[in-house]
Amino acid sequence: MNLPLRAVEAPAERDGAGGVRDAVLLVDDDPVMRMLTSAALAERGWRVVEADGGAVALERFAAECPQVVVLDALMPPPDGFATCERIRRLPGGQHVPILMLTGLDDEQSVARAYEAGATDFFVKSSGQWMLLSERLRYLLRAAHTREELLASQEKLSKAQRIARLGSWEWDFRQRSIRVSDEFRAVAGFGSQDRAPSIWGAWSRIAPEDRGRVASLLRDGLRRGTPMTFECGLACADGGGKIARVEAEFEYDAAGRATGLHGVIQDVTERRQAEDQIRRLANYDSLTGLPNRRFLVEEFGATLARAKVEEAPLALLFLDVDRFKQINDTLGHDVGDQVLREVAWRLHSTIRETDTVARVASRGARRARSDSVRPEAPPDSRVARLGGDEFTVLLTNLFCADDIDRVMRRLIDAIRVPIDCFGHTVHVTTSIGIAMFPRDGDDVDSLLRKADMAMYEVKKRGGGSWQAFEESMNTAVKTRWSLEAGLRRALERDELVLHYQPKIEVATGAVVGAEALLRWRRDGELVAPAEFIRAAEDCNLIVPITEWALAETCRQMRMWAPEWDRRHMGAMPVAVNISPILLQRGNLVGLVRAALEHNGVARSQLEIEITETVLMRDLKVAKDLLHEFRELGVPIAIDDFGTGYSSLAYLRRLPIDTIKIDRSFVAELESDDDAAAIVAAIIAMAQALKLQLVAEGVETEGQRDMLAQQGCRIVQGFLYAPPLSADRFLQWVDGTGTARASAPRS
Ligand code: C2E
Ligand code: MG
Ligand code: MG
Repeated sequence: MNLPLRAVEAPAERDGAGGVRDAVLLVDDDPVMRMLTSAALAERGWRVVEADGGAVALERFAAECPQVVVLDALMPPPDGFATCERIRRLPGGQHVPILMLTGLDDEQSVARAYEAGATDFFVKSSGQWMLLSERLRYLLRAAHTREELLASQEKLSKAQRIARLGSWEWDFRQRSIRVSDEFRAVAGFGSQDRAPSIWGAWSRIAPEDRGRVASLLRDGLRRGTPMTFECGLACADGGGKIARVEAEFEYDAAGRATGLHGVIQDVTERRQAEDQIRRLANYDSLTGLPNRRFLVEEFGATLARAKVEEAPLALLFLDVDRFKQINDTLGHDVGDQVLREVAWRLHSTIRETDTVARVASRGARRARSDSVRPEAPPDSRVARLGGDEFTVLLTNLFCADDIDRVMRRLIDAIRVPIDCFGHTVHVTTSIGIAMFPRDGDDVDSLLRKADMAMYEVKKRGGGSWQAFEESMNTAVKTRWSLEAGLRRALERDELVLHYQPKIEVATGAVVGAEALLRWRRDGELVAPAEFIRAAEDCNLIVPITEWALAETCRQMRMWAPEWDRRHMGAMPVAVNISPILLQRGNLVGLVRAALEHNGVARSQLEIEITETVLMRDLKVAKDLLHEFRELGVPIAIDDFGTGYSSLAYLRRLPIDTIKIDRSFVAELESDDDAAAIVAAIIAMAQALKLQLVAEGVETEGQRDMLAQQGCRIVQGFLYAPPLSADRFLQWVDGTGTARASAPRS
């Protein structure tokens, strides 16, 4: 009987639940058996594809891609075994479940079936259709599970590949290690290498890290806690890598460690990026030297070691003398080049042994990471704090001579002229030194003290060095408490203005006043000489001047009706302006605001600027004076005679008054030179048609000499000291000689 070959279709390709039916390729040369089996399987929901022999089976398999194959073992050639082998070689045939139908008790066939690649066998009988169908279902489920497992393994190894994460298991009892493909890649084992031995894997750890890793393992084993660490890897190709390892021990029921498993990740690139960030954060881009941040960190570590070893340290604070001048006159390119050259000279002058603040000494782990740095780190013995400030750290000091020697070397090295951009620049430095443990035991105080010592060198003209002394500290502390006190003084309204009258000699009339600052501190009045410098240094001079201008204008407004009542004209008042304000801030704006706010005429307020200051930066001064001239506020040159102004300069400046310095007035009667200078000043002022005021007039003799030579207006203790606003009013009433005119009229 020859039954046609077909695919036995159940009514539709879909099963009752709407899913696609699974296809089974049924291969049997016995048509009856095939028909019965086929019908039984179709009834149980299978889509059956039939084949009556091996050759057809292979064709059908290729065309239909069945999910499972049922294969009769005994058929004319190619028999079931041969067909099975061939299916295994077809695309998609490698893993398809193949159930081999064998005769009852045919043990030999069973064995051959497995050899040929069958998944399982089933004893042929006509009544077992239900069993056969269930067996096929089981095979299918097993095949699916296997596929899913494979897929998830593939996903895992793909994820591992992407993350450069390898896994490994070390079995203590078997004394073996199993590793994933990615482990091989990370640790530098070729995929062809046979499974690495424990020793082989261990020897990939960089030699300098092995001791540390071994002790981490011992610790982990004792504590039973998971471990995370980074270590260097020495790869077979000679390259170095940084790996991050996470590992956990396994224990048996008795609590004995049976193995260690974990993951390993290649973090070389991350570490390089971190190093790069660290470099950017810690090194100065202009000179390549470590910056302040790095210095503080490294110096902290060096200090900690020095404390343990009781070894002395010296911290040098260097500042390039007159660097601002170099920058301003020769340009920033030259300035930058000078800083680079100074950095290089410092760097090359300090011997290796002069210091220990070096990166390389920070332990094996750091050393490994350095080996993968794209660029070797600059030496950290010398650091640039910013601007033209550098530091040098000296260690291994045996005696004071060591420092002397280094200092001489440094000073000499810097002194060699620098040629850049066609200029020959002569550079000197001021160097301050602080010593550990003598001057302090923390970074901050040593830096601060070295800075103070450097400042002392600057004050003496630079180009030299100086060790810190306690007296410097006292001076600075006094300055600080002064600054803090001044800050409070502003907040608590402790500043007051006193007014000193200016007198017209001929009539004895008050023709104006000068506002002079006082600080009412704890019941005593502090003179400006004691605090103006400090206020300038800490910038408090700006709010103080603002206050003085506003207060003077307010006082002028309060006084205005008083002068009216006394039938006097307005009383011009002069305010002293600090040199700092000439370069900074909107001085003219401040003055205008104070005047407008109090409704005071511009010509009534006078600005006093010291001569020395004016001469220091003529360009700035000239512009500023012109602005005041435009505003209509008169200018007086204070302390005249001390600043060596030339006549030529004076002629070009828009000034109104000259105040003869009180030092000349004081010596007027006793010193012919002083008298000659005063005479010259008076003659010059008259020639330039400038107002004249003589300061510090204490005696009638001085007054008379001044008057004789043509100085009409004087100011001094002879008439009155600076007085509070109330006393000033009383004083005016007491003299009864105030007159209704301004000094210029
Ligand atoms: P200055 O502007 O030259 O002020 C004149 C100084 O001479 C005042 O000292 C005054 O008290 C003092 N004096 C006046 N007559 C005589 C005298 O007959 N004999 C002697 N020996 N001295 C006399 P003071 O008030 O101590 O002020 C000192 C300096 O402080 C002022 O010199 C001025 O440069 C500065 N100053 C005062 N007030 C201010 C201010 O508000 N702002 C700023 N920036 N500086 C101020
Ligand atoms: Mg003055
Ligand atoms: Mg003066």
